[in-house]
Amino acid sequence: MAGKGGLYLMRGMMGRCPACGEGKLFRAFVKVADRCPACGEDLHHHRADDFPAYLTIFLVGHLVVPIAMYVEIVYQPSYWLHTALWAPLVILLSIGLLQPIKGMIVALQWHMGMHGFAAAKQARAEYC
Ligand SMILES: [Zn+2]
Repeated sequence: MAGKGGLYLMRGMMGRCPACGEGKLFRAFVKVADRCPACGEDLHHHRADDFPAYLTIFLVGHLVVPIAMYVEIVYQPSYWLHTALWAPLVILLSIGLLQPIKGMIVALQWHMGMHGFAAAKQARAEYC
């Protein structure tokens, strides 16, 4: 994220409105607010759909599987210990990453003017 270019992504990751960075992006765990409570930016246009879940699975899998394989090769623990280690880690990482990833995807759609965000992007371009 170089300079100002990635600021909107950071705002989305932190659960803040990509436009102002003040208002909350989410009204529930992964429910995006219809509009920003601080600046009024319309946010209901997003179409994140299953992509945040897909990315979360992709990232968690690529983090946990190599670690689990390393532990298996080096220590050969019993299967119950594998289950006791990796199942909670996968659940915690998935819950922890889902909202920040969804925030980044909504912010990316906002920035790129995707779906219903096109009019807002056009307005930003004319304003600047
Ligand atoms: Zn805002």
